[in-house]
Amino acid sequence: MADARVHAAIVIGVTGHLIQVEADVTDGLPALLLAGLPERGTWETRDRVRAAFLNSGLAWPESRATVNVLPAELPKGGTAADLAIAVALLAAAGAIPDSGLGRWVFLGELGLDGAVRPVQGVLPMIHAAVAAGIPRAVIPAANAGEASQIPGAMVVPVRDLAQLAGWLRNGELEERGRSSPLVGRCSPASPVDLADVIGNAAARRALEVAAAGGHHLFLQGPSGSPATMLAERLPTILPPLNDEASREVSEIYSAAGDLYADRFVPGRPPLVSPHHTSTQAAIFGARRPGAVSLAHRGVLYLDDAAEFPAVILHGLRRPLEAGEVVVARGDWTIRYPARFTLVLASPPCPCGAVACVCTPLARRRHLARLAGLLDRVEIRTRVVRLNRPGLLGDSPGESSAAVAERVAAARERASARLTGTPWRTNAEVPLLELRTVFRTVAGALDPLDRALNTGALTVRSYAQVLRVAWTIADLGATDTPGRDEIQEALALWKGESPGPDGLPAR
Ligand SMILES: [Zn+2]
Repeated sequence: MADARVHAAIVIGVTGHLIQVEADVTDGLPALLLAGLPERGTWETRDRVRAAFLNSGLAWPESRATVNVLPAELPKGGTAADLAIAVALLAAAGAIPDSGLGRWVFLGELGLDGAVRPVQGVLPMIHAAVAAGIPRAVIPAANAGEASQIPGAMVVPVRDLAQLAGWLRNGELEERGRSSPLVGRCSPASPVDLADVIGNAAARRALEVAAAGGHHLFLQGPSGSPATMLAERLPTILPPLNDEASREVSEIYSAAGDLYADRFVPGRPPLVSPHHTSTQAAIFGARRPGAVSLAHRGVLYLDDAAEFPAVILHGLRRPLEAGEVVVARGDWTIRYPARFTLVLASPPCPCGAVACVCTPLARRRHLARLAGLLDRVEIRTRVVRLNRPGLLGDSPGESSAAVAERVAAARERASARLTGTPWRTNAEVPLLELRTVFRTVAGALDPLDRALNTGALTVRSYAQVLRVAWTIADLGATDTPGRDEIQEALALWKGESPGPDGLPAR
């Protein structure tokens, strides 16, 4: 009969926080008092832990047990502290030795049958533990894959409570541990390649410019056009994520739960394409990060974009501006990172057919749904469906590797120019700096200035064209944009790339 103290952790948003579980077993009538958990969760936790004990063949304390979860002010709504509560009770009841327990953090939900079930956010929770000087963690076996990514941490995957109790009783925990190898960043091969896309030279160029400058993109094409193929290949020409970005994205996937954790390949910019029937919670996040956060530092692709509900299309403007989403949850506000390149695809009309039968009004209404988002998009292009590949004289396109090389060189030019500023890509540079610090060739801006004066361009779109012109200059290894770069940027902004029906895209 003693008291015991065990580390656990919780995740709020995508940030892990270390917490403590104290258990005390004293003489008295058998009872378990749980403090420090939200009222609603207390009964459920008590029932789960008790059932897990009994179904694991462990003796439930035949006396008065008190468990306190600290600190009190954190929202400990999850179930990840179950395992730590069980371990603290075992130690306090004298069923396992308590020496050395403080060097570990215990993470896991208990099933009624004693199984240790996976939890959300293992990665950020272990990061928090490592940062607090506790690099050893017992984790659910189902989370072992994601936890193996943390350099310097030793993890022990555990299947059920009986197994863990046995290891603790015999002092075997340490030898069950796996230290993660300190592997360097791999350059992950992608299963898709830009060479798969036939023809569509204009759209491929638009994709390359978008990748080089970090610009948002609108792919307009009829049903069955290779818009999705193109969007899916954008990550293959983007620069790989550096270690810091990879870690950031891994934590988001871990916080989204074990279903998602394995979907992120470290180093590869993620691509997320939610369906237009997705809920607001699935898109923006709630208890777990949503699609906009899973696309962080990668690509958010909305196919059939005009089919998404207005509330979602409107809501996307906040992450596009702020690079994050804010979700209110009880007394807590959770911020999820959400800085992504947006790619929209839509046919120009509701019917989507090449031989369109829609009225001019229906066509206007269709794209008007996207107006609020298209305001934020710098590049528009048409994607055409090729019915007779080969017969049109279209040779296979360049490979992703060849395009990625030009994109990387362009990004390097941009980042060298932007050294000492808070911006890394052309897409981020404010208009004022574009006009004052980074000068263009004399006279090159005349067509833009005229368009601004006649109202053909807004101040916002003026800046968008100028940003894209800088990216085109970077791709062409030109020091500063001249007339040609401005012309092409203006054409990309207008969506004037050639289409089969000869209609402008906007
Ligand atoms: Zn139509």
